[in-house]
Parts: sequence; C-alpha cells; structure tokens
Amino acid sequence: MRFYRPTFELAALQQPQDRLVSKLGGLPWGFPQARWPACPDCGYPMSMVAQLEHDPPMIDLGSTGGVLHLFFCANLLCLSYGTGGCEAVILRCEEIGHGLTQQPPDEDGSQSINGEVWIAGWEPHDDPVPPEQVSSFYDDGDHMNLPDGIAQPFGFDSRWNTKASGVPYWTGNGVTLDPSSITLPPFEFLLQIHQMVYVDGAPPSPDLAGCTVSIYREIAGETEWQHHAPAKPTAASSPMSIIAEYGAQSYGVDFVNFGSDGTAFVFIDRHSVPPVVRWHWSR
Ligand SMILES: [Zn+2]
Repeated sequence: MRFYRPTFELAALQQPQDRLVSKLGGLPWGFPQARWPACPDCGYPMSMVAQLEHDPPMIDLGSTGGVLHLFFCANLLCLSYGTGGCEAVILRCEEIGHGLTQQPPDEDGSQSINGEVWIAGWEPHDDPVPPEQVSSFYDDGDHMNLPDGIAQPFGFDSRWNTKASGVPYWTGNGVTLDPSSITLPPFEFLLQIHQMVYVDGAPPSPDLAGCTVSIYREIAGETEWQHHAPAKPTAASSPMSIIAEYGAQSYGVDFVNFGSDGTAFVFIDRHSVPPVVRWHWSR
C-alpha cells in the first residue's frame, strides 16, 4: 500500500514562524484563543501535538479541507491516559488568524509545550500489505495472525512509525482501537505519529536546540552516553530532547511524551460535515 513519510526540520533552527506551516508540537498558528481545549478530566489546558494543513493525498481532510489540530493532556497526574485526554479540532482556513496563539497556563501557572518540528516535505513509499489484508489491521485477533512482514513491514523501527495513509503499524500492544469511539467505516486511518521523529543532518548544539542533546556510541559492546544540557533553561517545560549516535547524519527528536515510547493513531470520518477526527496514543 502507498503511504507517505514526512521529513522534518527543527523549528529552533528556522526563522521565526510568520505563516501557517504544518508541524508537530510548539504553539499553533492563528488558532482562536477562545477555542483552546481543556482536558475533560483535570481541566488543564491541553498541549498541542500537531497542526496539519489539508494536503492530499498525504493529509486528506475531506472535500472541505481545512486545518487539523491535535491536542492532548500532558498533565502526568491526570487519569485521562489515552483517549479522554486526546482532542482534535478541524478549523476552516478562514478561521485561522495571524500569529502564534499562546497556550493558557494551568492552575499552577506552568505550561507544558511540546518540542517543535516543521514538516519539510513528504516521501511516498509502498509496503507489501495487500488490499485484501487491510481489514486485519483493525481486528486484534486477525492482526496477531498476520505474518510479521505484513503487520510490521519495517519492524518496530520508530523511523517508520510516523506516517500518513496506508494502514496503521501498531505497537507491540497490538490493535488498540476502541470500537465504541472509532468504528471503521465510517472512520479511516489518517496518520500515526511516534513520539520520536527524525531530522537529517548533524545534531545541533543544546543551546541552539533549547534542549538536552544526548550522544551515544558503542565502544567494545558497551553503549557510552554523553548528555549535553543547554546553558539556559527554556521558559516553559517541554518534554523535548535530542538523541543521536556519534557521527550520525540524522538525529532523533523526542518531541512529546506518549508514555515514553508511544505512538498516536489518528482516524478521520470524512463523511461527516465537517469531518470528525478521533485519536488516541498507545505504547
Ligand atoms: Zn487531564
């Protein structure tokens, strides 16, 4: 099946944002302040996970297009672990204003703002999943019986676990779909986002990136780590960190906390007007 893998650039290395760009983390561009979602369980303002423009065939928000926003509850003490704390808002292009929208502080006056990467482009890929096996990706029993080369064509390599279209590559916990909330059809798989995404190039310095940069190397069978913290801590708390192998020409950006190694799975019902998006994350 055809799917699309985004390429990313680190927002901290770009010019200040002056227009709508599709991105993960950070603050949304032109999002109406009054519509900032609060967690239904703990009441804390949610943190943005993604702002994605209608960009078919990669991000197809249906015939009316628009801009998709994913928010989640980043409060570690909140019990809305999973679906309850995951919100999706689709706005029409004309509802998008100008400038970055500030995240409201929580009751302690603090904020958790996710690390920010911009989508630079999309690469098309094909996997060996045949059309007749697509339905098996939405039933845990059927999915368990799929050959590994079909269920996980690229292993559990997180580089392949951020993708749009095709079928979901589930985590080791299998199909974590709640059929009472997301029924296929009318819902269809839109995209998935692993909490670690990859950027080409050598890792930036911690001061430029604004987060800890950890470099590892294998020496005589042992993994040796060096952690470099920025000289000046950032204003808002952020789960972001950068991890790279010594000498590698790409680096991992751990931009959000989905339970330390989780993946978000996002589904869309394009038959509703406006379309409805529901999502959850799982490890
Ligand atoms: Zn919450």
